[in-house]
Amino acid sequence: MNTHAYSTWLEVDLGAIKNNIQQIKRLTQTEVMAVIKANGYGHGVLEVARAAAEAGATWCGVARMEEALNLRAAGLASEMMVLGYTPPALIPEAIKNKIHVAIYDVEMARAYAAQARRTEGRLKAHLKIETGMGRLGMSPEEAPFFLEDTQSLNQIEITGIFTHFARADEPQSGATEAQLFVFNQLLEKLKKASLLPGMVHAANSAAVINFPQAYFDLVRPGIAVFGLDPSPSTQLPEGFRPALTWKARLTSLQTLPPGHGVSYGSVYVTSQEERIGVIPVGYGDGFRRLSGQEVLCQGQRVKVVGRVCMDQSMLQLDAVPEASAGDEVVLLGKQGDEEIAAGELAERWETINYEVVCGLADRLPRVYFDE
Ligand SMILES: *Cc1c(COP(=O)(O)O)cnc(C)c1O
Repeated sequence: MNTHAYSTWLEVDLGAIKNNIQQIKRLTQTEVMAVIKANGYGHGVLEVARAAAEAGATWCGVARMEEALNLRAAGLASEMMVLGYTPPALIPEAIKNKIHVAIYDVEMARAYAAQARRTEGRLKAHLKIETGMGRLGMSPEEAPFFLEDTQSLNQIEITGIFTHFARADEPQSGATEAQLFVFNQLLEKLKKASLLPGMVHAANSAAVINFPQAYFDLVRPGIAVFGLDPSPSTQLPEGFRPALTWKARLTSLQTLPPGHGVSYGSVYVTSQEERIGVIPVGYGDGFRRLSGQEVLCQGQRVKVVGRVCMDQSMLQLDAVPEASAGDEVVLLGKQGDEEIAAGELAERWETINYEVVCGLADRLPRVYFDE
């Protein structure tokens, strides 16, 4: 892995991605759709998609058609599904590229059918059911009529049926059982009427951990693929590994006299002679402009002092006298015996680990290795 050309970069362990897919397969014994929307949760979508496929994820799921088309253009051959909304104008492309779409209302199906008529092929679609998420989905009451009607449509083949959980990371809430009850009732009804589509799916990462009764024919984990916990209350079992490390190089060190301001606004002022280092990382990279942050240097936690700038941040390095220019600093991940997990950054930034990794800027080079 050659990182000499970079001053800050992300290292992505594709071995961890593969391991995590294998863990999910072992746990669920079902087919796996690796959900890799938002640039593979910030990890870089193409390499992650390839690693997931290599490890046995037969499907990949994205949020938007552009994401799926880019993966196809790069040669990814897996079954592919767009989980969110697809504009009708992109339906011919979906058909040509064998990408499954989500359908959740009748008007949408009509618009898709009209677009599909312009091509030779048939659109493959999964019907999304509203069972409690309150986001996208057809009501369970409407679904049987819809499926009966679409059976006669030449342009659309309903290949799957699915739903999404709102609170699968809160197993005590009873909410997932309630959603499953609604979903199962519908599945039963459809089975009796011979209207049940081929593939049934529901489980996100939290349900993979907490709800084996939600596995059905395929599971749809996202965050778990990256070795990150679905929430502080629903943690991954032993054996999963985080894939991401965020590094930067110390680009400058200086000893400032007492009473010297550091960074914009001089909100930090040295109280004695202090050794202040600079890393070329700022809010333009997805690092937050907050006080009280820490990074790892020489295997120790050091404080970020003064305001975080767009491209740079300052470190208080008195605790690590051996630090010198060019040293690697870790913002997320392990260094020596210390670790800053995505969950720690999430807590610091008052958000969730999902947003931490999705917010890593495009300009950060992603470097891949496999061990
Ligand atoms: C994002 C998403 C997932 C994956 O969720 P995780 O919590 O990351 O496992 C699964 N299904 C749908 C419909 C999604 O939008």
